[in-house]
Amino acid sequence: MSTGYKSFHESSIKDPKGFWAEQAKLVDWHKPFDQVFDYSNPPFAKWFIGGQTNLCHNAVDRHLKDRAQQIALVAVSTETEQERTYTFEELHAEVNRMAAILQAHGVVKGDRVLIYMPMIAQACFAMLACARIGAIHSVVFGGFASHSLASRIDDAKPKMIITAEAGMRGGKAVPYKPLLDEAITLASYKPEKVLIVNRGLSDYSTVANRDIDYASEREKHLNSKVPVEWVDATHPSYILYTSGTTGKPKGVQRDTGGYAVALASSMRLIFGGNPGETMFTTSDIGWVVGHSYIIYGPLINGMATIMYEGTPLRPDAGIWWSLVEKYKVSVMFSAPTAVRVLKKQDPAFLSKHNLSTLRTLFLAGEPLDEPTASWIHDALKKPVVDNYWQTETGWPILAIQRGVEVMPHKFGSPGVPVYGYNMKLLDEATGAELGPDKKGVVAIEGPLPPGCMQTVWGDDQRFTKTYWETVPGKQVYSTFDWAIKDKDGYFFILGRTDDVINVAGHRLGTREIEESISSHANVAEVAVVGVEDQLKGQVAIAFVIAKDPTKLANMEAEVMKTVDSQLGAVARPARVYLVSALPKTRSGKIVRRALQAVAEGRDPGDISTMEDQSVLAQIKQVIGK
Ligand code: ATP
Ligand code: MG
Repeated sequence: MSTGYKSFHESSIKDPKGFWAEQAKLVDWHKPFDQVFDYSNPPFAKWFIGGQTNLCHNAVDRHLKDRAQQIALVAVSTETEQERTYTFEELHAEVNRMAAILQAHGVVKGDRVLIYMPMIAQACFAMLACARIGAIHSVVFGGFASHSLASRIDDAKPKMIITAEAGMRGGKAVPYKPLLDEAITLASYKPEKVLIVNRGLSDYSTVANRDIDYASEREKHLNSKVPVEWVDATHPSYILYTSGTTGKPKGVQRDTGGYAVALASSMRLIFGGNPGETMFTTSDIGWVVGHSYIIYGPLINGMATIMYEGTPLRPDAGIWWSLVEKYKVSVMFSAPTAVRVLKKQDPAFLSKHNLSTLRTLFLAGEPLDEPTASWIHDALKKPVVDNYWQTETGWPILAIQRGVEVMPHKFGSPGVPVYGYNMKLLDEATGAELGPDKKGVVAIEGPLPPGCMQTVWGDDQRFTKTYWETVPGKQVYSTFDWAIKDKDGYFFILGRTDDVINVAGHRLGTREIEESISSHANVAEVAVVGVEDQLKGQVAIAFVIAKDPTKLANMEAEVMKTVDSQLGAVARPARVYLVSALPKTRSGKIVRRALQAVAEGRDPGDISTMEDQSVLAQIKQVIGK
């Protein structure tokens, strides 16, 4: 890649046909496409029309020729103390068995299969088996309770649900099967079959004619071979619901061909992974990062991938680094929230492992604050690459693309637009494009590049209305994130557009104030929200978790002073509440809308995707509402 970032990105926007035709060579096509894309019906983009391919073939079968005996999957559970590797050949056999089970129970191309499972190898087999036969999977994060699960069952209408009887967290079995039974009772739609992987962790009851046992089914299909179903590039591969940070989750529908190409290309140009190496992504298959960079991305690229069940702290805070050493991980992908957890531990857990194979750590999912970034950077002494994206896009929108050009990193910025994304920073009120250092909404001009969402599952109108009709006078995709762009083209995310605070006519991103507060030495974590104020319209309120709770004297005043000196008095929070926990989604993101509702004495609304619902009650107490 001799061209450098600027011209590379430019060619992707000016000549998308030529650009993506070239990237498409990274995947196998059963039938070549005759048109790179069709955008005759915006905002619906179709990629690689006429082409036929298959995600499972690209992730598994095509590697059998050169790497049958190479490890494809490492499944580690520090909960059950089990660890097992699968070569590409073994993975191929397991996926065939699983695909045969699905077929034997009537699942055909286009049917939905809901996967509600912990981080075990069978979840990977299930996803790949669906892709193999053209069934559409919808993985629902294992931590969700019946209510959230039921609404996804009603939306996706799966013919079959695949589950395990239990997960395990912190050494305790977490039953899944009773929650699933309850969800099916709650849902109006009823799946025909429930396939259960029995791990022997907890007892459960079964429903006759509906529930089937994975182990005995697998025995029946030990030698089954299920041919790959070649599907159109535009055939939906999966539905994945967004995290629900801002409200009701949206069913993101993804295609097959565009997704395969986007992942294959990003593995090389963004993540810098080479076939034969190992990638370790610490996310969960219930999230988009898990789909793209635990399962499909590394496997399509001929890499081994690690699936990890457990916490980052058990048996000790060195567990992830010991896996990096043991499996010679070269590419690692995690989230700021996980790094913050590790940061509270002794750094010796990190330094005692040989991390010489590790080239780069990628972090995504939420703003990467400077103290967290510096800590992990200093501890690892390797590049730490922040990257910004959404469930909707399936792969990064903003990043330093080290496989294109090793550009400098800037603290607080996930970098520059990824090739294929025609990014604009727009004034929300007028739709006008903004120059350097002006705050606006991050938007993408259509067509969205390959790999991004095709539509909202079953609701084209919601796709158009939600994402493409919010900026005045323009049909552009809104990310609903607020940012500034500097003169070098680096974006700095300032928070979500919903979270922008308007103090006496000054518009401030919650992220700006949080970033400033987190520079205070005794701040472990912080969330800022805007609440109604009769005089100023809105004022900022900060919720702070202290590192050392014995040193709280003057904390509120000090925090205010920090903001005053860095951002000015206009950004100064009206109150700083010291709390012991913040409300988060199960993917670890702070739910600011709930904090704001509580601070304004309102009902927080739907909080079913929240990790620990008792946190809000504690916060109500602290603020006396
Ligand atoms: P919902 O859309 O249901 O409210 P969500 O937006 O939290 O949920 P995701 O798609 O998982 O669901 O998260 C994408 C969002 O996460 C982005 O729009 C952005 O706000 C935030 N985000 C992701 N990566 C970064 C990053 N590197 N820096 C800053 N923010 C990020
Ligand atoms: Mg979102």
